[in-house]
Formats: sequence, structure tokens, C-alpha cells
Amino acid sequence: MKEQDYLDHLVGVFGHPAAENPGVVIQEAAFRALGLKNWRFLTIDVDPGKLGDAIVGLKAMKFRGINCTIPHKIEALKYIDKLAPSARLIGAVNTIINDGGLLTGENTDGQGFMIALRDAGISPAGKKVVVLGAGGAARAVCVELALAGASHLTIVNIPRDMALGESLIKILKENTAVAVDYVPWVDAYKVPAGTDILVNATSIGLYPNVDAKPNIDYDTVTKAMYVQDVIPNPAFTPFLREAERRGARWQSGMRMLINQAALNITMWTGLEPDKGVMLKAFEEAVS
Ligand code: NDP
Repeated sequence: MKEQDYLDHLVGVFGHPAAENPGVVIQEAAFRALGLKNWRFLTIDVDPGKLGDAIVGLKAMKFRGINCTIPHKIEALKYIDKLAPSARLIGAVNTIINDGGLLTGENTDGQGFMIALRDAGISPAGKKVVVLGAGGAARAVCVELALAGASHLTIVNIPRDMALGESLIKILKENTAVAVDYVPWVDAYKVPAGTDILVNATSIGLYPNVDAKPNIDYDTVTKAMYVQDVIPNPAFTPFLREAERRGARWQSGMRMLINQAALNITMWTGLEPDKGVMLKAFEEAVS
């Protein structure tokens, strides 16, 4: 009789809502291509306030790891034994690695962004960057850019929650050498001349709000700028369309998403997945 191994190796995502999270299609496509036939990615709806219970279950069932998404990224910090330096600065965890009950917290959102930037041939060192938004994605992007030597960061955020922008600026000033400004976002924002990189790190334009775009004066976007969106779906947002119209080079949030998912897989399995396979699976899932 052939030797069989039916034991499942579990990873997944804790979110609320969780149903629209595309992690399962991207990660399971990668597992299949790597020949990891017993690896499963579970999409799990965990109510706010129940993350602690879910973590107890994760340890009991020997999950190898988990992604945390809205609203659990900050609360996850409470349950972590070891924190990666950038996750500590960002103040949020999107990836947990379980080594026999010892939980390590990582944040791969910003790392996925940085790989996308570098793949486009852009080095952030010495660059002037404008980031729209001050939420979780913006924090991850800003911390990684600052650690990579960006010279100047302008954070543009609506003054709905000043504390969010102020706490981010405090973290950056206390822990990195970047010069940083905060601009309350009230009117169409004019991108300063001399900006090298412009990032939309808000949720504006995410499916199903596919016609929405950040309120900026697009005539201040120039062909000298590199423009990056964090929105993964749709891949070509109105924000990027406007940038392209002004001759700017641009990249979608889809690459960032695939990069961070690939990093998760390597952290959990020790293997390098095929990003082409992952991208194709994601494109098929959202088309
Ligand atoms: P948050 O809710 O933490 O932050 C969203 C930010 O956008 C906040 O600063 C918010 O301001 C701002 N914002 C929302 N609507 C508007 C508006 N109409 N005008 C101006 N500002 C606005 O979300 P996340 O940072 O976690 O996620 C943001 C986006 O990033 C999501 O679409 C998510 O899909 C994407 N993302 C992509 C990743 C990738 O790998 N490609 C990884 C992680 C996230 P306020 O707080 O005042 O509402």
C-alpha cells in the first residue's frame, strides 16, 4: 500500500468581513504550483473582540500561520510573542508565523510595496514622496519608505482623524531620519513640484467604487513622477488613468498584493512561490 499523508497544513486569514478577501485563490494557486498538496488557506470571519479566542484555536489546531486583516491588524499585537522591527514601528501585524506555539508578528504590506517599487526600477533613497491617506496601508508604506532612506515624506490626510496622522508623524520622527510634513486634505490637493513618488494609500477607488478617485489637482502630476496605487482591484484605477494621461509612470496595487502574499508563503513554508502563477490566479478571480 502507498504511504499516505492526509494531514492538512493550515494557514489563512482572520478578518471581518472576510468573504471578499482574495488570499485563498492567490495562495492556494501558489501551493499547487509548489507541489504542497496538503497546504490549505482558510478564509475565516472572526468577529471584532474575538481575535483572542481565534488565536487560542489557531495554536490548538497547529496553524502554521495566519494573515490578519481589517479590523484585527492592531489588536493582533496583543497576542504576539515576537515582533519584527517594521511591524513594531507600523503598529500593526498582517502576518503571524506560528513556531510550535511561539507567535511572530510581521507586516508584509509595506515590504510588498517596496518590492513593487524596486521592480519598477525606483530606489526610494533620497526621494521626495507624497502619500495620500494615514490608515494602515499608509503607515506601512511610510515606515518602509523612511527606513529605505526617502528624504522627505508629505502625508496628506483628511482632518477627520488628526490623531491618526499625528501619531504616524511622531513614529517617523522618533525612529527614522526622514523629514516629514502633514497636510490636512481639504481641497483638491496640489502635488508639489519636485515630488518624485506619489502614492494613493487611501481606500478610494477600491471595488465596487471603481469610478472614485482621490481629490487632487491632476494637472500638478507630471511625467517626472512615479505614481503607485495600493488598490489591487481594479488594477487600473481612475487615479492611475489620470497619472498615465499626464505621462507619469505608474504601477497598480495588484503587484504589491502579490508581493506581500509571496512573502507570507516564504515565511510559512520556506519556499519561493511563482508570482506569475499567483498573479494569473488573482486576475482570473477578479475578471
Ligand atoms: P484604512 O481604513 O486604515 O485607511 C484608509 C485611509 O484612506 C484613511 O486615511 C482614510 O481617512 C482615507 N480615506 C478613505 N476615504 C477617503 C476619502 N474619500 N477622502 C480622503 N481620504 C479617505 O484602510 P487601509 O489603510 O488598511 O487600506 C487602504 C487601502 O489599501 C484598501 O483599499 C486596501 O485594499 C488597500 N491595501 C492594499 C494592499 C496591497 O497589498 N495592495 C495591502 C493593504 C491594503 P479616514 O481615516 O479619515 O477615513
